[in-house]
Amino acid sequence: MQPTDLAPAANRIICPECGNDEDFIEVAENVVITTLYTQNKDGSFTLQEDDSQVLGAIKLLCAQCEADISQFHGRFAEMLF
Ligand SMILES: [Zn+2]
Repeated sequence: MQPTDLAPAANRIICPECGNDEDFIEVAENVVITTLYTQNKDGSFTLQEDDSQVLGAIKLLCAQCEADISQFHGRFAEMLF
């Protein structure tokens, strides 16, 4: 008896270096984060708007052995919910 809901999907990403298929790191280079704040009457600030822009490359790394597996990043992005 095989519980079908536990069957691994055919398109799971597996690190070719160490076989890790659980933990992955996404690294964005050269990120510009622009944040708009409004100053309140008491001098405190309230965040109004948060905008981040990635100017550099986005890499996907294996969290176990840190191999660069950016070739899987497209699939990773599609499976990100
Ligand atoms: Zn790995």
